[in-house]
Amino acid sequence: MFIDDTIAAIATAPGEGGIGIIRISGEKSLEVAEKVFKSMSGKTIKEYRQRTLIYGNIVDNENTIDEVLLAYMKGPNSYTAEDVIEINCHGGFISVKKILELILSKDVRLADAGEFTKRAFLNGRIDLSQAEAIIDVIKAKTDMAHEVAQNQLEGSLSNKIKELRMNVTEVLAHLEVAIDFSEEDVEEITYQTLKERAEGLKTEIKKLYDTAESGKILRDGLKTVIVGKPNVGKSSLLNSILGENRAIVTDIPGTTRDVIEEFVNIKGIPLKIVDTAGIRETEDVVEKIGVEKSRESFNSADLVIMVLDSSRKLCDEDIDILEKLENKKTIVLLNKTDLEQNIEEDKLNEYVSSDNIIKISALQNKGIEELHEKIESMVYKGSVKNTSSVVITNSRHKDALLRAYESINDAIKAIDQNLPYDFIEVDFKNIWDYLGYINGDTIKEDLLDTIFSNFCIGK
Ligand code: GDP
Repeated sequence: MFIDDTIAAIATAPGEGGIGIIRISGEKSLEVAEKVFKSMSGKTIKEYRQRTLIYGNIVDNENTIDEVLLAYMKGPNSYTAEDVIEINCHGGFISVKKILELILSKDVRLADAGEFTKRAFLNGRIDLSQAEAIIDVIKAKTDMAHEVAQNQLEGSLSNKIKELRMNVTEVLAHLEVAIDFSEEDVEEITYQTLKERAEGLKTEIKKLYDTAESGKILRDGLKTVIVGKPNVGKSSLLNSILGENRAIVTDIPGTTRDVIEEFVNIKGIPLKIVDTAGIRETEDVVEKIGVEKSRESFNSADLVIMVLDSSRKLCDEDIDILEKLENKKTIVLLNKTDLEQNIEEDKLNEYVSSDNIIKISALQNKGIEELHEKIESMVYKGSVKNTSSVVITNSRHKDALLRAYESINDAIKAIDQNLPYDFIEVDFKNIWDYLGYINGDTIKEDLLDTIFSNFCIGK
């Protein structure tokens, strides 16, 4: 693909801050920058060494817009692998906006969301899985999520995919020899060897695919709802877990009311506590479950934490909630264990296995560590915990692996039936293609636009 236009955008988040950065990329970057930048020394940008910060002013005719530091990075040694100019001006809204407008008036186009990164991919500096890792690095909510994204950015997934595809290529080469020279006296790959190779690949692909469940949670957070009748200690529990663990509080615009989502960092897992507003405002959570919105968050939750007051006997209201927990990943907390205990644990065990019941005292902060450990073991199920191994965090990658997995099963079936080599070859070609979706080798262009539109502008 030939890229001939020059793009620009504000690369920093909007708002007041020390510095704002405007990024320009493309053939005309330097030319445009020379037009709007006057260095304090009087030298042109070109007269300086590349990749040094040059002190000067951005000027519109004789009007100074802002005092800045400017850097010129000549392609291919830049973020996009094109000629890039970065202007560090004062933060806030006006400087960045005025400088961007000035640049856009010089035959430069406003960059689309993710377009800088897309260019880095199209220009071959990074592959698609690395480009996608960049957005994950930016959006990471916990250190662990960040580490996984960083590994992917460094090429951990790319290398794994390369290795798998190399295996597929070898099999394809054997198959092609067997097909093309079937009349001649060459040593053909046996069905048994084919089967061994296919089974080996299947195991590898499955292993990678199986990391996706934990990976998704690392990336998007574990959607968690806290339920229980009034006064059992839900808010106290929430405060206990939020304590020092509060990661990020986001306001999500566009929702009917301001739903506050709290991300809590539990052993590196971003716990996204949904509908806490509901817990706080409406005392009657059972009633709230009846409300469409709460039912929705309850239904879509990855984890339900139910709180019970263990100083009281189970009542109908409790049972009502317990019955709704069927088929949900649930942890039941017996709260207020500092008081005299009256709850009937036998009866409770009819609804939840004792493995998933934890005794706590939200008031005394007891049992909270156990809760953390339980959540951790539920998420990892004893599997991926090592962030240095490759973890699939992206649903697009998961989907591609699933397709590759299905094709390998087709191949195995064909091998088992001793079908002709060219049948088997089709399945191996499919595996090769599907794995290529992940690093972008075999991806279609319209899909690329969708992928990069998830980025923010300026990235
Ligand atoms: P919610 O209505 O479920 O959110 O319950 P709250 O968190 O508001 O707690 C209701 C009452 O129970 C408050 O007076 C809390 O101080 C008290 N409480 C919460 N947790 C405990 C606990 O572990 N032990 C004792 N003794 N009281 C608790």
